[in-house]
Amino acid sequence: MKKPTKFTEQNQSLPGHQHKMIPVPQVIREDYQGSGKLKDKIALITGGDSGIGKSVAVHFAREGADVAIIYLSEDKDADDTKQLVEKEGRKCLKIKGDLKSENFCKKAFDQCVKELGGVNVLVNNAAVQFPKDKLTSISTKQLQETFETNIFSFFHLTKLAIPQFKAGDCVINTSSVTTYRGSEHLVDYASTKGAIVGFTRSLALMLAKDKIRVNGVAPGPIWTPLIPATFDDIEKFGQDTALGRAGQPSEVAPAYVFLASEDSSYITGQFIHVNGGEIVGG
Ligand code: NAD
Ligand code: MG
Repeated sequence: MKKPTKFTEQNQSLPGHQHKMIPVPQVIREDYQGSGKLKDKIALITGGDSGIGKSVAVHFAREGADVAIIYLSEDKDADDTKQLVEKEGRKCLKIKGDLKSENFCKKAFDQCVKELGGVNVLVNNAAVQFPKDKLTSISTKQLQETFETNIFSFFHLTKLAIPQFKAGDCVINTSSVTTYRGSEHLVDYASTKGAIVGFTRSLALMLAKDKIRVNGVAPGPIWTPLIPATFDDIEKFGQDTALGRAGQPSEVAPAYVFLASEDSSYITGQFIHVNGGEIVGG
């Protein structure tokens, strides 16, 4: 079972060590065929340095989009994402900084517009988690860190994106299976992920008249740097799913491609559950 780890300043930067993960997460299937589904779109992806966000960046590029990635501190991972995106023949703008700061969000958004020419797809994906066994162990500092990163930043960036979005542009938010089934070790994290569901559904209703769609993905156990950085016991990670294993980022990102493309033109306010077969409501 997952054991809680201590919340320290140090383990906030741990998610940067993708290059040390064994096995290395699969970013994209070699045989994944792009077909111009996102031709000449511009996507802004938070947490695009590693894990699911990295995989989304590379899939979007293979589908013809330029991307900007926002990340906290993991320069090596971000460089690697940039290389992979450029290998697809598309641009990748790296933006380093702390999404908890509304001021940074503004600067990052403006830089993306200035250097890539706009934003058509906003992927709110960055998050932190600090497992704790008891409610009383969740400090106010941790609570703030988790809410400011995992949901406040979604408001900051989306508020910037909406005024310049055109019909057909869209928002995709990353939630989690933990919010649908509960998680005894991640009460604060799962609460932010629930807030993301409410945010997504409500914003979808608000923006439908402008033909802007808002959807999300609720991943189950996916092999990313977040996992070894925050859980002690990772041997059995994902084995309690119906498919009996953890998923790879390469198995999650195609859901984002679908939600970003015309293929999902009649879908808004919804979540795709990429979770290895756990049946959840909504
Ligand atoms: P990850 O660690 O690779 O990605 C998260 C990224 O968020 C980090 O790379 C980091 O740069 C960025 N980030 C965190 N705090 C930030 C801040 N203050 N400012 C700027 N950037 C910040 O892990 P991942 O598993 O790919 O996570 C991506 C999303 O998937 C998260 O929303 C996570 O909650 C969600 N998710 C993951 C799993 C899983 O099993 N891996 C399961 C359910 C949901
Ligand atoms: Mg990272």
